[in-house]
Formats: sequence, C-alpha cells, structure tokens
Amino acid sequence: MSLIVHKYGGTSMGSTERIASVARRVAKWVRAGHQLVVVPSAMSGETNRLLGLAKELMPNASMASTPEALRELDAVAATGEQVSVGLLALALQAEGVPAVSYGGWQVPIETDSAFTKARIRRIDDARIRADLAAGRVVIVTGFQGIDPQGNVTTLGRGGSDTSAVAIAAALKADECLIYTDVDGVYTTDPRIVPEARRLHTISFEEMLEMASLGSKVLQIRSVEFAGKYRVPTRVLSSFTPWDIPIKEEAVSGTLITFEEDEKMEQAVVAGIAFNRDEAKVSIIGVPDRPGIAFQILGPVADANIDVDVIIQNVSHDGRTDFSFTVHRNDYARTLDLLKGTVLPAVGAAEVLGDAKICKVSIVGIGMKSHAGVAAKMFRTLSEEGINIQMITTSEIKTSVVIDEKYMELAVRALHKAFDLEQPAAA
Ligand code: ASP
Ligand code: MG
Repeated sequence: MSLIVHKYGGTSMGSTERIASVARRVAKWVRAGHQLVVVPSAMSGETNRLLGLAKELMPNASMASTPEALRELDAVAATGEQVSVGLLALALQAEGVPAVSYGGWQVPIETDSAFTKARIRRIDDARIRADLAAGRVVIVTGFQGIDPQGNVTTLGRGGSDTSAVAIAAALKADECLIYTDVDGVYTTDPRIVPEARRLHTISFEEMLEMASLGSKVLQIRSVEFAGKYRVPTRVLSSFTPWDIPIKEEAVSGTLITFEEDEKMEQAVVAGIAFNRDEAKVSIIGVPDRPGIAFQILGPVADANIDVDVIIQNVSHDGRTDFSFTVHRNDYARTLDLLKGTVLPAVGAAEVLGDAKICKVSIVGIGMKSHAGVAAKMFRTLSEEGINIQMITTSEIKTSVVIDEKYMELAVRALHKAFDLEQPAAA
C-alpha cells in the first residue's frame, strides 16, 4: 500500500462529468489498495471569473494593490477551490468511496500573510492522517491557506501545484501525481515544434530552470518544494480513459528525478524554453565609475521591479551603456523611472527601450560536463542570421535575448541542432 497525492488541474475539473471521471480514476487507485489525498484546482475559468467580478467593483488598479483589497481578493479567489473539493467528495461518495473535503484553513495549511502570493510555512498532517487511517480519501483545496491571523490566503496563480507537492512533502507521500491537460514535460512547446518529444524523466534542476524560463507546465514553487523535500513528482495526462490499468498510468507522463545517475536520458540538452514576457531597457552614456550599477538598479528594486538579464558594455572615454530586462508589465514603469529620476541622477545621455524581444534558453545538466554547448547554440543562431542582443548563463542553462520576431525560428533551429527530436540513447 502506498500513500499517493493526486492533483487535478482546472480542465480536469471543468464540468460535473469531468469531476465524475476524476472520482472514478481516484476510486480505481483506492480499490487497488492505495491511500489517496486529492488536491483539485478550481473548475476551469473559475478563478478568472471570480477575479473579474472583483475587478468590476474596484474603480482602479491602485485600489487592487492596497493590503485591504488584496485580502478580499483572496477571500473571493479561494472560493473556486472550495467548490471543487466539495463536489469531488460528493462524486467519490456516489462511487461508494468514503471521502471528506477540507479547505486550507481546516487542515490547516499555514502560510505567511502575503495575500495573492502567500508562501506555505507549515502543514499540520494530523487530521489528514486520521482520515486516511479511517479509510477515507482526503480532498484538500489547492491554491489556498490561512495566515497567522486567521485570514484566508492564496498562493498565486497556478498555486494548486504547490499545494499538492507541499502536502505530499508533509505526508512523506510515495508519489505526487500532477494530472494535467498535457501528457508530460516536452523538449519544447509542441505548438511551435511539432517534433517535440515527451521526456520520460527530467532532473529536478532542469525542471526548475524550465519552469523559471517560461515552460508553463508546473508552478515554479511546486518544483522548489519537490526539490527541497525530494518529493517524487510525476506530470501526466488527465485525458487518458479513467479505467486504464494503474500499471500503465503509473509509468506514464514525465517523472522528476533527483539523482543524476537515475537519469535514463543522457542528452546534453534536455529542452528549449522561451519567454515573450520580458522587455529590454538601456541607459546610454553612463559614467563608468564604482557604484553605478547600484545607482541604476537600486531605484528599480525599490520600485519592486524584478530585473532579469543584465549587461554592461566595455567603456569608451569613461562612459558605458547598461542594459537589463524586466517583465513586460513593468516596462512602462521602468522607462518612466529611468527617464524621470535615474538618468538625471547618474548623468547619463539617453534611455532606450525595446519591448519586442524574447528570451530563448537551452537547459540541460549535461552542460556541466560538456564543453562547447553554448558555442553550438551561438553558431546555430548565427547560421539563421539571428542577432544575439544579450547572453546569460548558469551551470545548466544558456539564455539569449533576441528579436521577438525570430523566436519560433530560433526554437526550431536549436531543437534540431541539439537532436531533441530523436529519443536519446538509454
Ligand atoms: N485556481 C487557481 C488558478 O487558476 C490555482 C490553480 O489552478 O492552480 O490560478
Ligand atoms: Mg496549472
């Protein structure tokens, strides 16, 4: 007998028929002798609908960032998952399987008080364990928790992934199965490269990079949790027939692994990630003296704007150019800040911006031990005539910033150059 956590995304919970099918799948696992904790998302579109209602009642965006309003946004958004758990418990009971539902506050799942992006601090497993011991399936809301003052909080969009992995960690579950509308983690987005291939396994570090570089399969924090507590986590499809044999289901999808030598597929590069959410700003003719990076980026950080890729050019006649990327949502604010206060303060010549950029990255733990991987990336892009504007690297990834219009071309060319369409030799 194993203790298994299942997570079902919004599409899997999208209608009462789908919920009934989730219940049958869960019942199948229970009848095979496993203990089950299930973490569902809100029904698809529901969180957007709820936040839309909230928006209609808020006259402007600045209201939405007051602590008082953020608290109520969470009170509203958390109800989507509340409905899901109750419906799924009913569907299981209708299948003849004892089941009980809990909201985050009932478990409790304790978080900090950062409304709309709270972090889980502690999960009390006593109540869940007691129910499991009594032979019940326990259904716990994803996405939500409770802060030390007793306020309902949410974990940020896509947060149910994190709830599921965190609950699996707290219970030391044997596996956390994330059922979703794709059948695993791919070498890149199959909508851009039809030859993209599903990975049977991916290392936790690669998955973390893929998630933070733009792959939308899992919420980043869920991957961090999986890594910190070594939760065996598998991403798999919820669209297989509910009655496929467990033996088959249990090895489908993509398993996140923690040991390099466990990795079956020893490709140098595991996948290509891309992201169109960034914009580039440059501040030209900056005096090249100590403290200048801080003078530019300090005010940016104070304005709560996250900076990603940064480059500073070599200086000419004591002056240099400094460029960095920010999220596109922060682009206008960053330009205003640079033009308004930073440029006069540092005595720079000019501020330029470009929102039509994208970041393309190759990711693979094999890069640690293979030379020339980045060079191959640069050669591939140059053969396509694609100009690289910025470069950033870590041990297991190389990212470039390029013109947005070449994004698909770059991803396809790199996918081919690194032989990702071929199954790697085992
Ligand atoms: N329902 C929440 C959302 O849409 C959480 C989740 O689905 O993971 O973001
Ligand atoms: Mg999701």
